[in-house]
Amino acid sequence: MPRPIEALVHVDALAHNLARARAAAPDARLWAVVKANAYGHGIARAYEGLRGADGFALLDLAEAERIRELGWRGPVLLLEGCFEPRDLELCSRLDLWHVVHCAEQIDWLAAHKTERPQRVFLKMNSGMNRLGFVPGAFRAAYARLAALPQVDEISLMTHFSDADGARGIAHQLAAFEATAADLPGERSLANSAAILRHGLRTEVRNDWVRAGILAYGSAPDFPAHDIRHWGLEPAMTLRSRLIATQQLQPGDTVGYGSTYRAEQAMRIGIVACGYADGYPRHAGTDTPVLVDGVRTGTVGRVSMDMLAVDLTPVPDAGIGSEVTLWGRGPGGSLLAIDDVALAAGTIGYELMCAVAPRVPMRVAD
Ligand SMILES: *Cc1c(COP(=O)(O)O)cnc(C)c1O
Repeated sequence: MPRPIEALVHVDALAHNLARARAAAPDARLWAVVKANAYGHGIARAYEGLRGADGFALLDLAEAERIRELGWRGPVLLLEGCFEPRDLELCSRLDLWHVVHCAEQIDWLAAHKTERPQRVFLKMNSGMNRLGFVPGAFRAAYARLAALPQVDEISLMTHFSDADGARGIAHQLAAFEATAADLPGERSLANSAAILRHGLRTEVRNDWVRAGILAYGSAPDFPAHDIRHWGLEPAMTLRSRLIATQQLQPGDTVGYGSTYRAEQAMRIGIVACGYADGYPRHAGTDTPVLVDGVRTGTVGRVSMDMLAVDLTPVPDAGIGSEVTLWGRGPGGSLLAIDDVALAAGTIGYELMCAVAPRVPMRVAD
């Protein structure tokens, strides 16, 4: 028997979550963001659940090729644009739309020999200070692009740094509007947090919204809100089984560094899942976990291939009992990836992207 760990992708949950994004921004067209191999779910597996989107947004040219191979004929957007001039040839061949965020990318376009003009998304750096033209340089970039025979339609784009938090999006929206209000072209501004928290504002709900994390069933503004609040469902389950149990006496310790010491007699289970599977090593004692669908917590340090769980609330559990690290458990039980991420000092994004290649992943039955 193979080691009893596996990851499941829930196609129905992906489709459900996408529908939530549509409901939150009803007039917009919807990019399904599938960068990072669909946030760790696998592009081909996720495609089945996300093909109701209006387009796919990603970073990697190989991922764009993959989407075309899967049969997608609609829009595909490269969120970081081209990395070198010859990428433009692939954009022509695969009909990819691409972000233009720096002057060099305009130079490459100007030198590109193409039969068909390309559609671009001109990105403004409205305050995130990652990619894009600052407001003072944006209109000149627009004018340069507009004059190029290599360029077809120009759309306008920016990215919010604080759509999930207290600072919000008003300052960036103001910068964007002050510079670009009268420029023609479709707009794309909102990520998941902006769709859910601000999607009904007319300035945000414009032409294209970009749904990433919400599609995969993690709340972009957790812990302020959880997936139940937003009506999202986990798109990934990581599950394993107990491969041993131990009976502890008061004073006994568990695992490397003896970081957990039993105060009273208790039973623990050993789970075939460790940090080499992508489970976060920073998850300390009491990170939530389900055993046979019952919520309990981890004890002691996560090691490379194993972790320990408290069996006090599940006295009948034994070798072979099902352990849900996150996602859907037996009997309709559920553990949000965000709960695990919080206990490990990280975010759902990182956990779902980090499931290790040694964990077999498949679409759930
Ligand atoms: C990753 C990304 C998104 C999606 O962000 P989520 O928070 O996952 O919705 C949207 N826009 C850009 C430019 C991105 O890089």
